Amino acid sequence: MLIVMDKDATSAQIDAVAAKIEALGYVAQPMPGGERTAIGILRNPGPVDPALFLDMPGVSQAIPVSRPYKLVGREMQREDTVISLPGLELGRDRFVVMAGPCAVESETQALAIARMVQAAGAKIFRGGAFKPRTSPYSYQGLAEEGLKILAKVREETGLLVVTEAVDPCSLELVAKYSDIIQIGARNMQNFTLLRLAGQATKPVLLKRGMSATLEEWLMAAEYILSEGNPRVILCERGIRAIGEHARNLLDLATIPVVHKESHLPIIVDPSHAAGRRDLVPPLARAAVAAGCDGLIIEVHHEPEKALSDGAQSLYPNQFAGLMEELQKLRPGGWQ
Ligand code: PEP
Ligand code: MN
Repeated sequence: MLIVMDKDATSAQIDAVAAKIEALGYVAQPMPGGERTAIGILRNPGPVDPALFLDMPGVSQAIPVSRPYKLVGREMQREDTVISLPGLELGRDRFVVMAGPCAVESETQALAIARMVQAAGAKIFRGGAFKPRTSPYSYQGLAEEGLKILAKVREETGLLVVTEAVDPCSLELVAKYSDIIQIGARNMQNFTLLRLAGQATKPVLLKRGMSATLEEWLMAAEYILSEGNPRVILCERGIRAIGEHARNLLDLATIPVVHKESHLPIIVDPSHAAGRRDLVPPLARAAVAAGCDGLIIEVHHEPEKALSDGAQSLYPNQFAGLMEELQKLRPGGWQ
């Protein structure tokens, strides 16, 4: 439930409403707005009786919140969330491209690719140091050494970095070295990890699970917000579907639906949806046309030698060409 206060409600009246919410055993989340303050009621296991608040001084309305994702939904926050990062913003009309290899393989590899994607206009460098691989025999990443390489990339180029955390231990390290903590598709419902990401002070890039419904995905984001971290970027990366022609099915409908349901920004990963590089540019263009807030794209200077996801990694010149095409789709709205 959302308690909307009168325009001229005093702070004592607002405090009294918050105190009543807390006395009922729930959590009060005051949301000062331009015109009036609203107070969200959180952690209530069932419906709350609006009559409990309607006769309190300064209360204008008690609006039931119909969606289970209270903090993530538009009912409690109407305006789009803009994620502020050092020197950069993402969300609303601020569009950002993240690019880099699937995995950090060496300092030489990471720096070479970082310079190429930066020259093409990417602002954030991606690269996994902890790789959640289907096979235990596949390349698992450089762990902390990979994070140190990412920190070096930031130092040398000024690009921000995003990298995945796969468990509590890696999350602590990723939060220390990286600008954005990535939670991958395979961990979207790892609730312990989501809660820990919610306690971190860095923004979180939350990928959609392999077969997660939109509601499950938004509820995963709710875990992070409910722990106090409001800086969540949703990432559509395709879901399991029939057919061998692509690795996953890119669900473009999530872009407008997420914008309708949530104030959080949504970016798209066409690389993991495609699984093959020839499909990456058309999927990227489609995602931009559908209104996403950014892209995360795998690029490798020697994809045939890549230790993971080489087949879906763009060559740097293909990435540069795609960036030029994308600029035309977003005239004026780019950073
Ligand atoms: C990745 O970004 O390299 C990755 C493993 O992605 P996902 O979690 O979407 O499969
Ligand atoms: Mn990958």
